[in-house]
Amino acid sequence: MADKSKLTTTSGAPVPSNQDSQTAGPRGPVLLQDYQLLEKLAHQNRERIPERTVHAKGWGAHGVLKITGDLSKYTKAKALQPGAETPMLARFSTVAGEAGAADHERDVRGFALKFYTEEGNWDLVGNNTPVFFVRDPYKFPDFIHTQKRHPRTNMRSPTAMWDFWSLSPESLHQVTILMSDRGLPQDPTRMNGYGSHTYSFWNDAGERYWVKFHFKTEQGHAHYTNAESEEIVGKTREGYQEALYGKIEDGNFPRWKMQVQIMPEMDAEKTSYNPFDLTKVWPHAEYPPIDVGYFELNRNPDNYFAEIENAAFSPSNIVPGISFSPDKMLQARIFSYADAHRHRLGTHYDQIPVNRPQCPVHHYNKDGAMNVMGGLQTGNPNAYYEPNSFGGPVEDKSAQEPPLKISGDADRYDHRTGHDDYSQVRDLFVKVLEADEKERLFANIAGTWGSVPEVICERQLAEFKKVHPDYEAGVRKAWEKVKADGGYKPNAAPITEDTPQTA
Ligand code: NDP
Repeated sequence: MADKSKLTTTSGAPVPSNQDSQTAGPRGPVLLQDYQLLEKLAHQNRERIPERTVHAKGWGAHGVLKITGDLSKYTKAKALQPGAETPMLARFSTVAGEAGAADHERDVRGFALKFYTEEGNWDLVGNNTPVFFVRDPYKFPDFIHTQKRHPRTNMRSPTAMWDFWSLSPESLHQVTILMSDRGLPQDPTRMNGYGSHTYSFWNDAGERYWVKFHFKTEQGHAHYTNAESEEIVGKTREGYQEALYGKIEDGNFPRWKMQVQIMPEMDAEKTSYNPFDLTKVWPHAEYPPIDVGYFELNRNPDNYFAEIENAAFSPSNIVPGISFSPDKMLQARIFSYADAHRHRLGTHYDQIPVNRPQCPVHHYNKDGAMNVMGGLQTGNPNAYYEPNSFGGPVEDKSAQEPPLKISGDADRYDHRTGHDDYSQVRDLFVKVLEADEKERLFANIAGTWGSVPEVICERQLAEFKKVHPDYEAGVRKAWEKVKADGGYKPNAAPITEDTPQTA
């Protein structure tokens, strides 16, 4: 039999016993000097790091992005050139539930990708939907409060959700997708992913193009109804993990086709909608999706905590040839995602192996939590500032993107005015959703109204009517059925008439 490795303390000394604590006699008490007992207990207390405020429950795997198309005229990004193969990590998630939440809940799914390119890490931190609930980041923390627990009841509050949504008509598009079949995918491999924001490409000629990223499931879309998911959650709360982990262990590697929509820079002045508005899609007929390649997930993490819980995705991670857009939500996430990781994992979170770039890294950031890579990243202890005379790393002008053409007066522009919050939802409702899916949409919405005060439901119905009279009529009928079945018991929270956010 091969010799087993010997148990040691965390500082490497041999451990004589891992079963019996050190006590003054067989009955106790334990001695304070039994440091191995103290350390074991202290480590247990620290096994959790702060869970993500949103997207706490997740499932992830490693894989590869392969480029088969030709985007070279739009972007100089090496990872997007024909034939490129780039190692990657994907993490899927629900938004609202805590780390122990059941997987099969109706919710938007996060769809976060990290590509370890030779020019640095490129992250796309999207969702399984092409749009989002709000277009102005000022509203984001308030929106998330409505999705998390009520401060007094410590329960989720459908009243808060529908109050906020009914007072924020820009949410209609995402709410409709969330309540449709696509709001409850069977598992992470049976859904699309979208970069959602508008990003930009730039090329060696200094030209900029606006771009949207799409990842189409090659496993096919598959969803559960609310009733089916209730049954599944009664049997397992970890169905997504079982499906993703199991498929990869079986060698049944899931794939997503990668597509982009490209808009010439100046077209953004002409579209009837704001192409940087996260509540809007770019219609396929106007900007047809172009095939780029695919990604495949083919390796499960060896340690979930180290490789998935520690994974830090941020839209701030871009590489030469790929950049941002004026999208206000994207601009805010550039700050807030990286900041969440500084809080959650430590200042130097990108030194944790799963976040570490697979290319040389040189910078002058110094000290702080998680600085585990041997100190300075400059290669010379005298080069700890810049400029210096000690051969420290210098800037690379070839990474300078073309200027972002922006003109405007600094102001707090009303995010309501000049936006059509209804036409694209109408397109979805009229042209895309089949009759049976519409019926499920109506029932899914009415099914969440069991405790929501009437005034809020009526306000939301008025918004559905602006999309299409059939939308309002369908939800109203489904709501009447909930009432007739005795399922409507609105809570008694006092509603003020003064609702200053109402459009
Ligand atoms: P198209 O008819 O060209 O595209 C409709 C798209 O809707 C499909 O290509 C598909 O996108 C998506 N879709 C299909 N079935 C469903 C469903 N059951 N639930 C949600 N989405 C579905 O028209 P437009 O491009 O003009 O879009 C019309 C509406 O479709 C939009 O207002 C938007 O609500 C929705 N949509 C549009 C997308 C876009 O990027 N243009 C993307 C997704 C939805 P996919 O191939 O991405 O699954």
